[in-house]
Amino acid sequence: ISEEHDKVFATGCEHVDQKKIDAAPRANAAFVVLARNKELEGVIQSIRSIERHFNRWWHYPYVFLNDGDFDQEFKDTVQNYTSAPVEFGKIDDTMWGFPDWVDHEVAKEGIRKQGDAAIMYGGMESYHHMCRFYSGFFYKHPLLLKYEWYWRLEPEIKYFCDITYDPFLKMAENNKTYGFTIAVKELRETVPNIFRYASAYKRTKGLESKGLWEMFVEKPAEEETKDEASKKEPIPEELEDVKPPEIDREAMEGEKYNMCHFWSNFEIARLDFFRSKEYEDFFEMMDRSGGFWMERWGDAPIHSLAAGALLAPRDIHYFRDFGYRHTTIQHCPANAPARQLTRIPFLDPMIEDEKKRVEEDEYWAAFDTVKENGVGCRCR
Ligand code: GDP
Ligand code: MN
Repeated sequence: ISEEHDKVFATGCEHVDQKKIDAAPRANAAFVVLARNKELEGVIQSIRSIERHFNRWWHYPYVFLNDGDFDQEFKDTVQNYTSAPVEFGKIDDTMWGFPDWVDHEVAKEGIRKQGDAAIMYGGMESYHHMCRFYSGFFYKHPLLLKYEWYWRLEPEIKYFCDITYDPFLKMAENNKTYGFTIAVKELRETVPNIFRYASAYKRTKGLESKGLWEMFVEKPAEEETKDEASKKEPIPEELEDVKPPEIDREAMEGEKYNMCHFWSNFEIARLDFFRSKEYEDFFEMMDRSGGFWMERWGDAPIHSLAAGALLAPRDIHYFRDFGYRHTTIQHCPANAPARQLTRIPFLDPMIEDEKKRVEEDEYWAAFDTVKENGVGCRCR
């Protein structure tokens, strides 16, 4: 996603004028948080972070979803950390769990095998349900139907730059459909056949690439001809009986997946992309293949490959100015001081000794010297 197709929405900080923000229009948008009661602490961390860096000025609502019931403590605590409207919803079994048309014993056996093979989360049935929910259902949840845009929030994430403009409105203004901040490579063993199906979908529907698909295709090694590269992987035995049967086997051979995907624990996107006939057909075909059980397809590669098949680079926005971290992976904007200065002691979590930390003023003085260089605002 190069600057040619996609420019940063703001460079440095915009002046935050609360009166102006209050008077400005809002997008029809909400934060979406899927969580369990036991994740309360991680949820609080995430809310504190997004409130501090963005939502204390904008007050966008939150929608919390759970396949179980949120308990009173969860609901009360969450509401203590934001003044924005909050709704709590339950996910029923039309959107979570094995559907009727799949043989539950076969699916469970498939999951058990992935556990034995030590595939990350492969043996955890609930994780498979979560991935399928985020792939094909969240946007149809009754609490989300009234919204046009969503911003996905997960427990235990951290924003570390101020977001001083409304990303929903900027996306709308710039005709963007899907926004990301980190793209990484998927664990190959979780998605061995996902690309065959995604390619088959694209070919069966006669979809021409709009220029994004190539982002996900493995480039043939230099010494390999295109022909050699495409013949290498025969359809594996376990797919002899290709499901659903209407999939053309030939459409399943060819290009290989480079494992690239948008990391979906952060997403800002238009819900009508997922609600489109094209996405629904894509999900349906992927779902019927059984890959959500027999493999451990994540919603991240599903969303990404759907975008690849249906969208163009100009439809995608890279939030290069958002400082964002989840678990061990983070995105640091180009002008985040930590990148530009040799050492910022008080930002370094390894330095516990308060005396060694510099004063915040001193830090911001240093920051002023680098802020013209790039994107991101008050990263800390
Ligand atoms: P990871 O980020 O891939 O390691 O996976 P997480 O454990 O963070 O799960 C991704 C998201 O789904 C988080 O928002 C979790 O809170 C949520 N989640 C995962 N499994 C379940 C589940 O069984 N029930 C509910 N309600 N949420 C879940
Ligand atoms: Mn997570």
